[in-house]
Amino acid sequence: MYEDNWKKLLSQSCTTVSELSEYITLNREEQEWFDTVETGLSLLVNPYFAELAGTSEAIRRQCVPRAAELLRTEVESDDPLAEDANSPLPRMVHRYKNRVAVLVTDHCAMHCRHCFRRSFTGQGRKPLSRQERDEICFYLKEHTEVKEVLLTGGDLLTLSDGPLLELLKAFRDVREDLLLRLATRIPSSLPQRITPYLVQELGKLGPVWVITQFNHPHELTRESRGALNLLRKGGLPVMNQTVLLKGINDREDVLAELFQSLLVQGVKPYYLFQGDLAAGTSHFRTNLERGWEIMKNLRREISGLAMPVYAVDLPGGGGKIPLSESYLVEKKEAGFCFQNPEGHSFIYPDE
Ligand SMILES: *Cc1c(COP(=O)(O)O)cnc(C)c1O
Ligand code: SF4
Repeated sequence: MYEDNWKKLLSQSCTTVSELSEYITLNREEQEWFDTVETGLSLLVNPYFAELAGTSEAIRRQCVPRAAELLRTEVESDDPLAEDANSPLPRMVHRYKNRVAVLVTDHCAMHCRHCFRRSFTGQGRKPLSRQERDEICFYLKEHTEVKEVLLTGGDLLTLSDGPLLELLKAFRDVREDLLLRLATRIPSSLPQRITPYLVQELGKLGPVWVITQFNHPHELTRESRGALNLLRKGGLPVMNQTVLLKGINDREDVLAELFQSLLVQGVKPYYLFQGDLAAGTSHFRTNLERGWEIMKNLRREISGLAMPVYAVDLPGGGGKIPLSESYLVEKKEAGFCFQNPEGHSFIYPDE
């Protein structure tokens, strides 16, 4: 096995319509995007994911742009979570008291067509500079209320081992107890990047959690299962975030299979995200009522362990909230009246 095979794959990513055509014959809707587009999130798909896209419609829709993306609705924005307003330093978002998000790089192993940080992603910015990193480290030293650093982007695992580990060590040197949370799509988008060496080095860094993004069971290939296995055997806890995507995974059977398969791989489904209001993503959004219905039906199909929290990042900087479906029907004299997933009513007393 070539440890650096992933670099070759990444460098061979399709960025033009003719490169993509080697894997996929574009349909009219897809072709129309290429004919019309001037700005927005560019095409980027590495050969591994492009090949997968050729075999699965659900994968294809996540990485091949379509004309529907050209539509920008009134409720959408370039900064749907108002992250700019919560950025005390250029590459750092401090929205919640005890955790910060650091945008390490704008580079990814593929451009997800539903990306909500699409105005940052793939803009050819430089990775976090040494000076920016030092400023963040200084901030973390001062702000001891911060217990967790989320490293995101873009996808930080597109960095080579050297710069990546140097960055993580710098954050680790700030405080031993600081939890480092790596948010990465790499285990699904370019699993070859998860090498034994990388996992071994991550394992030496103290508390590190990995948060992946798998949206469809077709992403759980032999390669990605291998990557998840390496992470697990390396002692790194892995959780997954799924984006609820219309026409891709907005079905009980698809999500049940995805969450169950992730569990079997040792990955805990963490969040199921309602789509953010990022410009050009309206064709991916399901409505909330359908989301609640899916969650309620899933509860009957899979175990509590397999259930993620259905959540949304409220537009305009409201932050993340769980969209927990409520089983509470009313409060009666005798107590709280609940309806279970099968539709039967039960009372829990108010003592
Ligand atoms: C999502 C997010 C977090 C992490 O939130 P959790 O609910 O702990 O997963 C932290 N900071 C920012 C800016 C976020 O968007
Ligand atoms: S990997 Fe993440 S940051 Fe990159 S395009 Fe996909 S959703 Fe956006």
